[in-house]
Amino acid sequence: MKGTPLTDTIVDYMMELFGSEDELLAQLRREAEEAGIPPIEIAPEQGSVLQVLIGAIGARKILEIGTLAGYSSIVMGRALPEEGHIDTLEIDPFHADFARERIAQAGLADRITVHTGIALDLLERDLRDAGPYDLLFIDADKPNYPRYVERALPLMRDGATVIGDNALAWGEVADAETDREDVQGIRAFNRFVADHPHLKGCIVPSGDGMCMAVYSAHPQQTR
Ligand code: SAH
Ligand code: MG
Repeated sequence: MKGTPLTDTIVDYMMELFGSEDELLAQLRREAEEAGIPPIEIAPEQGSVLQVLIGAIGARKILEIGTLAGYSSIVMGRALPEEGHIDTLEIDPFHADFARERIAQAGLADRITVHTGIALDLLERDLRDAGPYDLLFIDADKPNYPRYVERALPLMRDGATVIGDNALAWGEVADAETDREDVQGIRAFNRFVADHPHLKGCIVPSGDGMCMAVYSAHPQQTR
């Protein structure tokens, strides 16, 4: 028994119900690509997973690594309460500027701060006293994923949620023939989460997959 295979028909069905996108996000996706930004935002149905999760855990403070055009930031920002906040980190100044503009257009400028720089440096410098965060969403350069969790965990509150996007590595995660660096980075991250004594994880096969875990500062028992 391996569960129900996600056929195209089933994915279309799920997307029709829970994968819709408003005009602002659809336009952002289109115009980012026209501006030469790679079309690697989360899928709309992943946005619903994130929004449900944010509501379920009552998240207020979110740390995102990898802003791109601001798509996932806006999706998450919309699920936050008025006083909630997102710090999102982006290495490419063009992406960061594009994202800031769209975030303002979405009316979320006071709820989302885009920090431009190398994520590991920003975590060490600008954000060293930030937090505690309720949710960490990692979606930047794949080989650094394990380092991102390591460096961000001290900024997370006890019981926080940690998510790594692209957990299925474009379908190649379990493909023994693939040794590309980004696929290896994803595998290392998934393994890191699975083996970490303070993380209780799973993979949610939405979009390209999200490896999610709950962080316990003082774990009492393993499963
Ligand atoms: N979360 C976005 C997609 C992010 S794509 C969404 O779903 O809408 C990955 C982004 O990470 C790219 O914009 C890339 O420029 C950025 N990135 C890559 N390496 C980085 C690094 N070392 N530090 C910060 N950002 C980085
Ligand atoms: Mg991604």
